Amino acid sequence: MKTILVTGGAGYIGSWVTKDLLEKGHNVRITVRDKSKTAKYEHLTKIAESSPGILDFWEANLTQEGSFDEAAEGCEAIIHIASPFILNVKDPQKDLVDPAVQGTRYVLNAATKSSTVKKVVLTSSVASINGDAQDMELQGLSEFTEEHWNTSSSLSHQPYSFSKVQAEKEAWKLAEAQNQWSLVVINPSFVLGPSLTPTSKSESLTLIGDFLKGKFKTGAPELYFGVVDVRDVAKAHIKALENDNAKGRHILAPRVLNFFEISQVIEKAFPGKYKLPKKLAPKWLLGLIGFMFGVSRKFVKQNVGFKVSYNNQKSVNELGMDYLPVETTMKEMVEQMHELKIV
Ligand code: NAP
Repeated sequence: MKTILVTGGAGYIGSWVTKDLLEKGHNVRITVRDKSKTAKYEHLTKIAESSPGILDFWEANLTQEGSFDEAAEGCEAIIHIASPFILNVKDPQKDLVDPAVQGTRYVLNAATKSSTVKKVVLTSSVASINGDAQDMELQGLSEFTEEHWNTSSSLSHQPYSFSKVQAEKEAWKLAEAQNQWSLVVINPSFVLGPSLTPTSKSESLTLIGDFLKGKFKTGAPELYFGVVDVRDVAKAHIKALENDNAKGRHILAPRVLNFFEISQVIEKAFPGKYKLPKKLAPKWLLGLIGFMFGVSRKFVKQNVGFKVSYNNQKSVNELGMDYLPVETTMKEMVEQMHELKIV
């Protein structure tokens, strides 16, 4: 039994990680930005009541230096999940890059200042492995592996991906500058599956909600992305925490699908129930109307129609991962969104 600090522990991914830790008997400290907003974490209070582990809540903000210091003291490990996952922002530096990069620095500095933390598990992303889908072809690759880094995102083009690659680089820099704790990084692809929290604004939930409400009914963009179940993402974090031999980065991307293929998986489970796209939208049309979906012409040009492939093998060999089928992920996600009256 250990005491683990989970930053962003009440979010979409964080809630599953917290649940798994509590059920395994670990004591968990989660950070939230505002403790008075109990609706954001009361689902976890209920889970803690029937779990052997003890849960408590700490207030901390990624934009405030020193904010995580007190919460980290006394913990054996930190799972650093918190980071904004929003695609439509007004000020990418302030809304994405600063909380991601400075926040990572403040959390890892808290690990170093503590007298107890021996391990940090960081939630990065495949957005830190590659930026545009066309990068694979441009770099002459047949697949992306843990050796690759996103070199095509910037503050003005794919700023969320830029925030993730900058934050992960900062984490490796800080890890190499000390020898008190070791760093293991998890790089999930697009995370889908049922949510324990009804309040998360994660793009995972927003996007599938938009889909089911008919936003793409005239045609789905031919955008390919890796997909992984949120419960598998949580499992990978726990395995990374518990396995003393876990090292480096770990891609979690058991399947690659495009938007139309995702909608067909949903249609098969719920025939005729949702206004799902019946075909792929032509690329030229997306170039013209992409702004309506918050994407630039450059994004459409460099992503639509380009296949991507990720090598997932390290997560299987070194973390012992096996993955849920995407059919289960989508069925249970949609059922749950329906129960919560999101769709
Ligand atoms: P989420 O539900 O929105 O979780 C984001 C968490 O970050 C929330 O718990 C939020 O805290 C916290 N946070 C945001 N800004 C903060 C700030 N300024 N100070 C302190 N905490 C802050 O989204 P998610 O999908 O679970 O994402 C969690 C992590 O997974 C992120 O690092 C994201 O980049 C990464 N990731 C997600 C996916 C995906 O497809 N969902 C894929 C790869 C990687 P509050 O509880 O206080 O709001």
